[in-house]
Amino acid sequence: MENFEELLASSSKAHGHLCPGQAVGVRMAMLGCRLIGLENPTEHSQIKKLLVYVEMDRCAGDAIAHVTGVKLGRRSLKFVDYGIMAATFLNLETNKAFRILSTEEARDLASHYAPEVRGKARQQLEAYRRMPDSVLFRVQRVRLPIKDWDLPGPNHYRATCSRCGQVVRDRREVLVQGEVLCRPCARGAYFEDAQEITWSDMNWTPDPYRRPWKKHEDELKRSFPELRIM
Ligand SMILES: [Zn+2]
Ligand SMILES: [Zn+2]
Repeated sequence: MENFEELLASSSKAHGHLCPGQAVGVRMAMLGCRLIGLENPTEHSQIKKLLVYVEMDRCAGDAIAHVTGVKLGRRSLKFVDYGIMAATFLNLETNKAFRILSTEEARDLASHYAPEVRGKARQQLEAYRRMPDSVLFRVQRVRLPIKDWDLPGPNHYRATCSRCGQVVRDRREVLVQGEVLCRPCARGAYFEDAQEITWSDMNWTPDPYRRPWKKHEDELKRSFPELRIM
């Protein structure tokens, strides 16, 4: 793993700004990975061994994802909407898991650790560089009973909502009085009043089949040498 300052710089670049949340998130990820014995989480040999549960959608969440390399699309990043500044790091090989919580004391003690720095955010940022892990965090050893349908890998479970016809993956369907339903149909959704629409250029496509696919693939590989085409 790179050192803290290098990770803070690259994380801030990816996040869009340097903020106290980046410092907390980078340190949380470094500590979490160390505790579960995955010191190089973004390396090919370790990337599939790590799951991270992030409990808030705030600045620190981006830093944790950046340092650990976990991704929503790979199912290695789980978002649990608790509004708590905490994350859990799980080693899938050993089943070791630790939940790390950022303390409120750390906020209160920012002026003690960086008294010479003006401005609240700058002071916090500097203080979070200087504080020991023991002040910045509380750590819990936890057991994580993970279901096979929550793991990364191919998806084996599909159900069809008997009300709207939508396919529901990974056992997220619900059973209501013997009826298989998607969650929006069963419990209501984050949106309201869904109306199917048509629009003027609805027959637009991104690639009008002008080029043969092989040539297109070669061009892609030239532009993105790192790209692995599945
Ligand atoms: Zn931020
Ligand atoms: Zn439905």
